[in-house]
Amino acid sequence: MSSLLFSDLIDVFLRLEETRSRNEMTDILVDLYEITPSSDVGIVSYLVLGQIDADYKDVKLGLGDKMVAESLSIASSRSKKEIQEMYREEGDLGTVAEKVSSSTKNLNQFLDEEKDLLVQEVYQGLKDISSFEGDGSHDRKIRRLAGLITQASGDGARFLTRIALGKLRLGVGAMTLLDALAKTYSGSDENRPEVEHAYNISSDIGLVAEKLSKNGLKGLNQIDVEVGRPIRMMLAQRLEKLEDIKDKIEGRFAAEVKYDGERMQIHKSGDNIQIFSRRLEDITNQYPDVVRSIRRSVGSEDVIIEGEAVATKDGELQDFQTLMQRKRKYDVEQYVEKIPVKLFLFDMLYKNKSLLNQPFSVRRKKLQQTIQTKDKLELSKLTTTQEISEVESFFQQAVDRGQEGIMLKSCGEDSVYRAGARDWQWIKWKKDYQTSMSDTVDLTVIGGFAGKGRRSGLYGTLLCAAYNKEKDIYQTVCKVGTGFTDQDLEQLPNLLQPHKTKRKPARVESDITPDQWIQPNIVVEILGAELTKSPVHTAARNKKDKKGIAIRFPRYIKLRQDKGPTDSTTTQELKQMYKKQKNN
Ligand code: ATP
Repeated sequence: MSSLLFSDLIDVFLRLEETRSRNEMTDILVDLYEITPSSDVGIVSYLVLGQIDADYKDVKLGLGDKMVAESLSIASSRSKKEIQEMYREEGDLGTVAEKVSSSTKNLNQFLDEEKDLLVQEVYQGLKDISSFEGDGSHDRKIRRLAGLITQASGDGARFLTRIALGKLRLGVGAMTLLDALAKTYSGSDENRPEVEHAYNISSDIGLVAEKLSKNGLKGLNQIDVEVGRPIRMMLAQRLEKLEDIKDKIEGRFAAEVKYDGERMQIHKSGDNIQIFSRRLEDITNQYPDVVRSIRRSVGSEDVIIEGEAVATKDGELQDFQTLMQRKRKYDVEQYVEKIPVKLFLFDMLYKNKSLLNQPFSVRRKKLQQTIQTKDKLELSKLTTTQEISEVESFFQQAVDRGQEGIMLKSCGEDSVYRAGARDWQWIKWKKDYQTSMSDTVDLTVIGGFAGKGRRSGLYGTLLCAAYNKEKDIYQTVCKVGTGFTDQDLEQLPNLLQPHKTKRKPARVESDITPDQWIQPNIVVEILGAELTKSPVHTAARNKKDKKGIAIRFPRYIKLRQDKGPTDSTTTQELKQMYKKQKNN
């Protein structure tokens, strides 16, 4: 079996660790793909991201700190106590692994110098660990990891330990990997959109990498929409003035109610139903009631449909926060009763074959023909028009009923479903736009400051960042210290605990140093008085005056558990919002 040497992969990890520049990372990854045999390209793509499978499969190794410490104790023949003490000192088991491995004579290499660890072997070991279940699995996992660590050395042991803990964090994002894949296997950046499209409809970077490496761009034709594999969701743009819609959408368009709930992409194949969240996480277990509704309302067809689930109480729609109480592992059925939801379906992406290339009107018609609406399942309310005045009155009715606003969707020939894109085919128009800062923003928490007085022992302020999509990094926009309820403040330490890190995270650009750095993961919704220019913040920083865009008087609104960091408001969107504010 020809496989990449694990030590070659580790050399690349070391180079990636040294850089923050997306271009440099791309070049390093191109070097990596060039030496990687086709059979390993998928695996290597996952490992660079610290995963062993596609994101949406959510494969868990099931190894906590304590278990990994035990593996280290076995691998290094040191006592558990000694390892725990080193962990306390270093604060990172990866560093402990590196230290003990460098000072332990590697028996395998001593006995057989030729036997180098292969990437395939590491991958298989990690796969095994994830598959051990039931009686004795705890010990089997520990021993299997110990076996791998014994064979790795120094930096290899450090990176392996971090992968095992789900904390590799080299700072490479999927978008950077796509850059490198396009460059390596299609010979040019120009083919990047095709490569990204394959990723957007499959959500599986390993699959895209493998097809590309085997057959170049032609290989991508083998990737199509499949039920059970989430499609990255199509998103909406913001308008400056409602009248501008005419410049953005030609001809007729649909105005739909914008419901304030959780977006769902529902996959049904025969009897099997899976629900994916906006972050493409499998949330089927949280919504057994939605699964039952779909089973009753959709016939024998295989479908992929999208909608918004909204919490209800006595028939009235409730806000997003109420729905978030349904995000739980336990007492699920109890909460189905306590917080019933209604599903408003708005799109159909697959009916026995992909509908992504069909215009919106065709998809919507198919949705209508396929779904039997019942009390807990409706189609989104919609009107088709060309008149701004009709849109205004539709908007007013929606707002009067307490809804968030409306969505405007092109009905033109080119109104295909654009997976993963925020395009002008869909536009949102919300009641918040009537306030001075035209919309709330969703920001990623990258740091925290210790609270004082009443808040001592808790976080007092969070450092928040927008996502710079071009550079694939996070840039600061504000420090937020108001708007939190006592309950929010109490929850924050637990919520942020798993993402705490000693150093500034790799993909964060910040001139401010918080008391505690946080890995980009948690997204919060913020409303401010207005957007301003600031020399302190790095978001959308202008090269000339060195000022970024910041939020004045930011106030915490809520947690956006349905969003991942790359779903945060982008710096490009902030620029648009700033421009809009100046023109008002
Ligand atoms: P926001 O934070 O403004 O709700 P978002 O960033 O979550 O938006 P956008 O794509 O900008 O996502 O706005 C569209 C969102 O609105 C969708 O992701 C979906 O969750 C929600 N939504 C509610 N009703 C509809 C509808 N009728 N059609 C499409 N999306 C809808």
